[in-house]
Amino acid sequence: MNEEPTIVTLFTEEEIAERVQELAAEITEDYAGKNPLLVGILKGAWMFLADLTRAITIPHQCDFIRVSSYGSGTESTGEVRLLTDLSTPIRGRHVILIEDIVDTGHTLATLLNILKEREPASLAVCSLLDKPERREVAVHIDYLGFTVPNKFVVGYGLDWDERFRHLPYIGYLEFEG
Ligand code: 5GP
Repeated sequence: MNEEPTIVTLFTEEEIAERVQELAAEITEDYAGKNPLLVGILKGAWMFLADLTRAITIPHQCDFIRVSSYGSGTESTGEVRLLTDLSTPIRGRHVILIEDIVDTGHTLATLLNILKEREPASLAVCSLLDKPERREVAVHIDYLGFTVPNKFVVGYGLDWDERFRHLPYIGYLEFEG
């Protein structure tokens, strides 16, 4: 049965905007004079990065990296593949990985290992959401938007089988019955 879920709001558009401004202010202060490179992890982080970059007031650049996703389900396989690499070298750069949500931690742990080998000047993590109950691999998040419960969340860039990415708010899926 293909049952249509309802979406229970966790964070409104206004709450997200306020938190993004706060994170941008922290990054602006911490990276003054460092010309950081913000690396958005596609596809989920694109909306977050679009708002973050406009709120950061120091010079910086943006690039993207794409990794394999969950496919159409809601469970991670723990297998992470690099689908599209960065378009710029990062050796000697101050890199901030921009993630939508840290769940099991496999995606970030794998990406951090790959990028570390390229010898950036520094490597930090900024994630909009954290779902700590599901963690299988320890990863340090330097800048965190919100912590979420163990539910499948959508909106503000996060999808469920490519649906709900466009929503300006974040909520979790609830199935009746
Ligand atoms: P991890 O490798 O930490 O298990 O998973 C990270 C990736 O899984 C995220 O970048 C995101 O694409 C996806 N993911 C994990 N939890 C959720 C969730 O609750 N909702 C959505 N839409 N994607 C999720």
